[in-house]
Amino acid sequence: MKTTFKRYINLLLDFIYPRVCVSCEKYILGSENHLCIECLLAIPKTNSHLHPIELLERKFWGKLNVKQVYSFLKFSKKGKVQNILHTLKYKNKPELAEYIGKMYANDLKAIQLEEKIDLIIGIPLHKDKQKIRGYNQADAFAKGLSEVLKTPYDEVSLVRQTFTISQTKTGSRFKRFKNIEGVFEVKNMENIEGRRIALVDDVLTTGSTLEEAGSVLLAAGCRELYIITIASAY
Ligand SMILES: [Zn+2]
Repeated sequence: MKTTFKRYINLLLDFIYPRVCVSCEKYILGSENHLCIECLLAIPKTNSHLHPIELLERKFWGKLNVKQVYSFLKFSKKGKVQNILHTLKYKNKPELAEYIGKMYANDLKAIQLEEKIDLIIGIPLHKDKQKIRGYNQADAFAKGLSEVLKTPYDEVSLVRQTFTISQTKTGSRFKRFKNIEGVFEVKNMENIEGRRIALVDDVLTTGSTLEEAGSVLLAAGCRELYIITIASAY
């Protein structure tokens, strides 16, 4: 009886506050969350946790000592995954990133990932960028993974610095200032040292940001490094 009532209330709420699928923008109803059932079934999973994908691993060959690279979805331009990533980036949706994290963690439980890692860390955003965006989608994804894998996540030990350097253009008397991003630093060494860490981000393209952050973690004594992303282009 109670569940029927709850279902009725939810349907009523969907009528008052319509929700749309983040991928196709059709209305979603009842038990559907963020994605409609068609999109949920159609989003292209990589299944890299079941069958390691060399094209993913290869991005780090000779650059970063990574145990394994896991990517939930296969990114393609103008596809369903692009809409999801766009929503995460520009629409302040921590609950969507968390939801995806939980979904993927359920897949990753199949390979007992929770026994291979001690800590989950999201690639930090620069403070100003986070202020504008409202949240860090990598941290929200990490939180979702953490909840299901019962592995702690840490959003304070790795930080991103921005240094402003001045550039003088030849022939111009104006000094120009440029922000150099992507400089990572470990704040709490003791949280990193000896740990097996999953470094996570929204999307893996060239891998240069993950490479940079990952090498900082390894230099700080991280014992084993895994990479997990929501999507990947390969
Ligand atoms: Zn949809």
